[in-house]
Amino acid sequence: MSRYRGSVCRLCRRENIKLYLKGDRCFSDKCAFDRRSYPPGQHGQRRSGKISEYGLQLREKQKVKRLYGLSEDQFRLFFARSEQKKGVTGTNLLVMLERRLDNVAFRMGFANSRSQARQLVKHNHFTINGKKVNIPSFQVSAGDVIELKEKSKKVQVILDAMEAVVRRSLPQWLELDKDAMKGVVKTLPVRDDVTMPVAENQIVEFYSK
Ligand code: SF4
Repeated sequence: MSRYRGSVCRLCRRENIKLYLKGDRCFSDKCAFDRRSYPPGQHGQRRSGKISEYGLQLREKQKVKRLYGLSEDQFRLFFARSEQKKGVTGTNLLVMLERRLDNVAFRMGFANSRSQARQLVKHNHFTINGKKVNIPSFQVSAGDVIELKEKSKKVQVILDAMEAVVRRSLPQWLELDKDAMKGVVKTLPVRDDVTMPVAENQIVEFYSK
């Protein structure tokens, strides 16, 4: 599956919002978006004309896709699943994205970014309720206990991330025992737990065409 390998800071500048894709750097004065908050590329500083309805929908879809670090195929699959669930499709989509194991590992502070969290999940650093899980898209449930394996508790990138997590607040639906290096999913996330401004109805419109 294809993966974006370019500069992730360009993605923030393209979407005109800080997506916090680079861990600590996002909070420093080196943040590229804070320095150049206009779109990347040769014509980035030109005034852009009126954006079409389709353009707005596309940008909203790209923003959320990039925030969670998914490819188009992965994102489309999540959208299809969210359509099959009861309730409002856009809300289902955002809640399902929040419930991904890589997102939860990032939110709990075991990693500095979602991409780093994905790598750690794939490399077998976590257990859920005592069982090994190495699937980044795994959907956590209320009551799940996410824990680092014993040997992983000494991995320096994880220790560094846990030191830096004080910059981000822990969402209310999660609980973290920093000393034991494990967390609990207290309840399932709700729409308001997505703190980034998102117009999910635009994404639904985009895929409904
Ligand atoms: Fe985005 Fe972080 Fe890069 Fe800033 S440093 S532009 S927030 S990825």
